[in-house]
Amino acid sequence: MQIDFSDYAVGAGVATALANSSPAIRVRTSEMLGDPADLARFLAEHAVEPVGTRRITRRDLAQVHVLREEVRAALAATTEQEAVERANALVERAGRGPFLAPNEGGWRWRVGTAPGADLADELAVLAGSGLLAALHALGHDRFRACAAPECAGVYVDTSRAGRRRYCSPQICGNRLNVAQHRARHKREPSDTP
Ligand SMILES: [Zn+2]
Repeated sequence: MQIDFSDYAVGAGVATALANSSPAIRVRTSEMLGDPADLARFLAEHAVEPVGTRRITRRDLAQVHVLREEVRAALAATTEQEAVERANALVERAGRGPFLAPNEGGWRWRVGTAPGADLADELAVLAGSGLLAALHALGHDRFRACAAPECAGVYVDTSRAGRRRYCSPQICGNRLNVAQHRARHKREPSDTP
């Protein structure tokens, strides 16, 4: 796998999606990576290459479940120093380089992965380098906690304006869901004896 440092939104997006795929994050969603087919779908959705050449095993899945806790810890780090250290550690798992690769008559910085690296290690390098490049370009205040009341998600805001509020705009940003949840919370005290 080759990862382009200037294209940090890809790796940061995978880091965010991976960290928030756990059933521990959203009260109302289940495990999003329950079997190898789910993981294959996740990789295809995020255009992670090379997917087609690799058979995803239960071992890969178990390793990715461990990885997502490490990615989440990097995203949720309370200090910039901790975020950098955790993201560096992700890249160190199988990172090779950096090196220059030709691009449209010029050159671009890239990081590669070790030959034969496990899927989880390749994902670690992709997520880690995305987090590092986003941190370098945008700053640690773009690493945030989701604003939805029922969600413990974390994310990197790589948008130009920097006004993203939810870990998953499609799910947590749904105003109706949020409003319904708030209404339910208000009723709860009278429901308990
Ligand atoms: Zn969320």
